[in-house]
Amino acid sequence: MAELITDRDLRHAIESAIKHAEKFLFIVSPYIDLDEDVKKAFNHLKVDVIKIIVYRQSDKSNYKSGISDGSREFLKSLPNVEFVAVKNLHAKFYINEDIGLISSMNLTKSSNHNYEIGVDIEREVDDDMYFECLDYLFNDMLLSQDSNIDIERIKNIMPKRPFILKYNARQVHINGEEVNINVFKSFHDHCNVKHGFCIRCVSTEIAFYPNQPFCSKCFSEWNKFKNPEYDEKYCHRCGMETNTTINEPLCDNCDEVYEFEIEREWKKFNSKD
Ligand SMILES: [Zn+2]
Ligand SMILES: [Zn+2]
Repeated sequence: MAELITDRDLRHAIESAIKHAEKFLFIVSPYIDLDEDVKKAFNHLKVDVIKIIVYRQSDKSNYKSGISDGSREFLKSLPNVEFVAVKNLHAKFYINEDIGLISSMNLTKSSNHNYEIGVDIEREVDDDMYFECLDYLFNDMLLSQDSNIDIERIKNIMPKRPFILKYNARQVHINGEEVNINVFKSFHDHCNVKHGFCIRCVSTEIAFYPNQPFCSKCFSEWNKFKNPEYDEKYCHRCGMETNTTINEPLCDNCDEVYEFEIEREWKKFNSKD
């Protein structure tokens, strides 16, 4: 579970996220004015860690840049560092390849004495939330900016979001998000297998669509009791005798191939817009 942290603990968690970055580090903080401890944490990093500093662009009413001159000089002297100035930036978060910290705190000396609160997200434990933070950073914040940062280079070192498919007759979720059932259905046009087997009577009169793995006769029988745990006998994809249920209608092998195919179609669909 994501963990709530406050005040000094939050400060330490931010320092630790900086210090322990191994591949990349995003600092998203409208105002930046580093103290000695934070500088030490930066100095601790390996040369090839990519550091992206996202700060608030000065607006007309306030010509002051979000980064203090001294901190800018210091950060500029580090290898593999990139700056992105974002208009209206108010969010604060800190992400490396393992940890995301969402925080009320700017990375400034003066925040050391404030009341501050934040959430510590470990990728291993809360991968959905972690990847949502990365998505927001990338797709909502960075891609909309005029900046020189090499998005492709950064994408290459990003951890890949695992593909999680959950489906039943009425609903499909991919990576925690509900997918339109008709869109999902259309993915099956590109699956290798077109005809499916009924998981109860092994009839091949049905289309391959794991959300509906029964022939109409067996479905009306199943529908009398509507027991999702009821043991069926065959794999909907290959027809092999194996333990299945309405919600898990595929043998292990077919399940793997099916997820691979759906992931491929899902990616194609998402790259269209
Ligand atoms: Zn049947
Ligand atoms: Zn199978």
